[in-house]
Amino acid sequence: MWKIKFQKAEILIVAFIVLGSFFIISRYRYLADDFQQYGSEVLSNHQAILSSQTQWRLPENAPADNDLRFYFFGDLMLDRHVGERLAGQPLSYLLSNLDGANKFWAEADIVGANLEGAVTDNGAHYAPANAYDFAFPPERIAELKAYGFNYFTSANNHFSDQGQIGVEETRKNLSELGFNYSGSTDAKIDEYSRKDVIVSNQKIAMIGLSMVYNDFDLEAAEKLIETASLETDLVIVNIHWGTEYQHQFSKHQQNIGRSLIEAGADAIIGHHPHVVQGMEIYQGKPIFYSLGNFIFDQYFSEDTQEGLSVGLEISPATTTIFFQPLKSEKAAPRLMTAVEKTKFLEKFSSWSQADSDLEMKIKSGRIDLTRNSNQ
Ligand SMILES: [Zn+2]
Repeated sequence: MWKIKFQKAEILIVAFIVLGSFFIISRYRYLADDFQQYGSEVLSNHQAILSSQTQWRLPENAPADNDLRFYFFGDLMLDRHVGERLAGQPLSYLLSNLDGANKFWAEADIVGANLEGAVTDNGAHYAPANAYDFAFPPERIAELKAYGFNYFTSANNHFSDQGQIGVEETRKNLSELGFNYSGSTDAKIDEYSRKDVIVSNQKIAMIGLSMVYNDFDLEAAEKLIETASLETDLVIVNIHWGTEYQHQFSKHQQNIGRSLIEAGADAIIGHHPHVVQGMEIYQGKPIFYSLGNFIFDQYFSEDTQEGLSVGLEISPATTTIFFQPLKSEKAAPRLMTAVEKTKFLEKFSSWSQADSDLEMKIKSGRIDLTRNSNQ
């Protein structure tokens, strides 16, 4: 009798556990589905806007005064000898040094570089045939998504390497791949020069300009930036300019850079000289004259194999700048060691227009600025 009673109790306990488990699992699944659905909705919103695999640091409904994080790299060229090195290999063959814990830009909202060439179907080369003639297949550029890249400036002297068809295919391919891009061919300012990107309810105007063979119309550039500054929360200008292999930026670059800050640019990121040029802070806003090469096949000197990546964390009141200099070996960049970084930042500060205070900050690898005031 007692035994039967115990069995009954046992059955009841087991039944209670089983039913309870079903209840808990179903609740959990319901919550998990809800989260998954909500999470993927947020992600697809972001992907529609930014199409990136960047880890989103800020939620969709974040207040508008949250910091925005950017990371910018120099010239990116995957044709010629880089293409030969990469033949039959994934892009990680060159970028494995910057994976995992070394992917210091993983938290950035916008990760960009200067795309020094056309993105044509199958990487095809079209007329005209230039001495330096760059084209990349879309599949290769798509691999950059895994590294968090979601913006390219195409305003440079190689965008038109594959003629007008190359320009059109680049835009089509970058759009299909879900990248943001801005910039027209050298010296041209048109509707492609500005691309608005929304991150955490903030609108950022990404402007691309190039003045290699000819200067662009400065007044038109100022107007473009002025309008953008009225219509958006932040204006970032990527500009292709300067003399190749010169660490010292020119007076001409400085005049134009400063005019663009006066017109409303919040930061200027320069490329083209294939080596790093100095920087300055003008009206509380940074101008980086050249970030040098990021991935390029100019193996002939140390200077062309040293590049600078710049992190910007911008809030309405402050801008924080981080420097991560890179060293390349046969187009494979890696972080500089502490000793190399110290030596490099010393050189970088000597190329910059900096008083002793800014010089000290540059050498420390971090600059804190109060926005909207003179440094
Ligand atoms: Zn260039």
